[in-house]
Amino acid sequence: VTESRSYRRVLLKLSGEVFGGGKVGLAPDVVRGVAQQIAKAVRAGSQVAVVVGGGNFFRGAELQQQGMDRTRADYMGMLGTVMNCLALQDFLEKEGIETRVQTAIAMGQVAEPYIPRRAIRHLEKGRVVIFGAGAGMPFFSTDTVSAQRALEIKCDAVLMSKSGVDGVYDSDPRTNPDAKKLDEITYGEAIQQGLRVVDAAAFSLCRDNKLPMVVFGMEGEGNVVRAIRGEKIGTLVTA
Ligand code: UDP
Repeated sequence: VTESRSYRRVLLKLSGEVFGGGKVGLAPDVVRGVAQQIAKAVRAGSQVAVVVGGGNFFRGAELQQQGMDRTRADYMGMLGTVMNCLALQDFLEKEGIETRVQTAIAMGQVAEPYIPRRAIRHLEKGRVVIFGAGAGMPFFSTDTVSAQRALEIKCDAVLMSKSGVDGVYDSDPRTNPDAKKLDEITYGEAIQQGLRVVDAAAFSLCRDNKLPMVVFGMEGEGNVVRAIRGEKIGTLVTA
């Protein structure tokens, strides 16, 4: 069992649900708290890239159920993630941390385009790079994009923060009161057992490329810093 992991560069996935504080829209105090934790880790020397979700604004699949065209709804979802990116950028800069937002959909007035080699340079200079607009493609999720970005910019691990659950369980803890939290699991086991805390596409991308993942809960003081530092938290998923 791995006691402590030491990461130089990580990809942190933050869900939109967290940014909304459980509601539609933005909960600035929550975003400030997350920014303070990221700032602390960066000051201590970690290189941090972030993928931000957008579930606090729109989810394509939900809008589709309400009668919208799926692809157009997915683009709305992607645009929502960019609003969260700008909020995180603002609070990080208030903490004195330099940041760059890079988006998968071009919008030059608010963000750089996604340029992986430039993102790596930013990280090497101690800037936090915040990736918005997902993959820029409908039918993808920000979990899958997190795995892809982590691989492309050569992160040591992808840290999947979740709200309302503190790791991977052997069955859904929201429906099964006897569900047990796992300290470690392999991607193969997670996929085979149909554990859906993270998308199967993200699991399989990480498995095929041997990228470790930590699934951890946002609830709990300092959890983001702990995950970035490689402390034993949540569930470690490995190939
Ligand atoms: N989305 C997409 N392609 C992507 C990433 C996101 O179409 O590459 C859309 C999709 O509609 C999704 C929404 O953006 O529902 C918000 O992202 P997600 O649901 O992953 O956010 P989270 O649940 O992490 O807040």
